[in-house]
Amino acid sequence: MQANSGGFSPSASKPAKALESWQSLPISMRVVKPDLVKRADFERAHHPDFVDGILSCELPNGFRNYDSAVADSLPWTSGAMLSAAKEAIANRRIAVAPVSGFHHAGYRRNGGFCTFNGLMVTAQALLSKGLIHRVGILDFDQHWGDGTQDIIDRLELGETVIHYSPTEEFSEAAKAQAFLDAIPQIVQKFVDCDLVLYQAGADPHIDDPLGGWLTTPELAQRDHLVFACAKVLGIPVAWNLAGGYQTPIRLVLDIHDNTMRACHAVYVDAADKMGQLPRSWSRWGEPDWGKK
Ligand SMILES: [Zn+2]
Repeated sequence: MQANSGGFSPSASKPAKALESWQSLPISMRVVKPDLVKRADFERAHHPDFVDGILSCELPNGFRNYDSAVADSLPWTSGAMLSAAKEAIANRRIAVAPVSGFHHAGYRRNGGFCTFNGLMVTAQALLSKGLIHRVGILDFDQHWGDGTQDIIDRLELGETVIHYSPTEEFSEAAKAQAFLDAIPQIVQKFVDCDLVLYQAGADPHIDDPLGGWLTTPELAQRDHLVFACAKVLGIPVAWNLAGGYQTPIRLVLDIHDNTMRACHAVYVDAADKMGQLPRSWSRWGEPDWGKK
């Protein structure tokens, strides 16, 4: 499904393109159709009047238009994130939803190409049903997840939803290595979580028009470290695409391909050197095994 994303953000067309690109890689992957989320799922993370206004196209969506195709796509995008999360919980390892457009959507507002916050819709669906007790949101998009934090604050979810984005600590090329070195410690923040939702944003790329400060190899290393550390800690991960605005879109898809390669190397190809424990891990000592 594709919807009008206002001309700048490619996010509406990205799921199909990312999936097609991944399927051309020499990796094994099982593709399943997501379950759609319902109005009640949105209302666990957003004000009911806001949900009504968006689904009826009476309020502008995150692309600042009233296109019914955007409204129709929303149960799919959040549904894909929730389905991936359930799959990661079930397999105790990893799943991916090729979707984006979540983290700027707050409790009663949207913007920045985000209409509903599929991360928080997912978190709330799982928490409310007791499928998990604590969830992490690791947001490595270029931009701060203001919408995510807004929902956490308004619904007083700070104890059960652990939200981290590095934008204030790390956001310049000179700090790239320090950022990569810190990832094991960052992932350790989620040791008490039953699941981590990982936004593997492509817009921190140094050539991104809305970025950026990380090179292509640094982004690949970022993803590898996240997966490797989460695997060592035994925390299931559901990841998604988040931002990426380079043109042509092939440049963005190449970054998402590298995330998939890192995912495959860590979780599937155990013989691959990249699947081993990151060398920087020892800097931070042993993980806290007792809590997991
Ligand atoms: Zn972004």
